[in-house]
Amino acid sequence: MPQPLRGRGARPTKTLAKRYERTSATSRGYDHVWRKVSAEHRRRYPFCAWCEQSGRLEFAKEVDHKFPIADGGSWYAPDNRWGLCLKHHGLKGQMERFARQTDQLDRLPLWCDDPTARPARFQ
Ligand SMILES: [Zn+2]
Repeated sequence: MPQPLRGRGARPTKTLAKRYERTSATSRGYDHVWRKVSAEHRRRYPFCAWCEQSGRLEFAKEVDHKFPIADGGSWYAPDNRWGLCLKHHGLKGQMERFARQTDQLDRLPLWCDDPTARPARFQ
């Protein structure tokens, strides 16, 4: 017999709370305002910017911050966002980690806008 639904406070809090922290976009600040801005960006620029730089057309699935929010980047500056397909969103994440590890965060926006300026592995 199914258990009746219980209130939020009655849930086994430990695992749920942990999972929420790790996965919730809302908890990282991606609220309804961002979702609207992101949707509007993809309406205006439907294709992956990284793919376009190499002459391909792929729909953008994520709107990414060129200079990461976590490192002090602007949430809403239009020139700090670009739409990416899932493959390139993953590659951008790797490029961010590389930039942090090599102390080159300030070069990220340039690397996003100019593929020839990127480290070879990200071209
Ligand atoms: Zn792409």
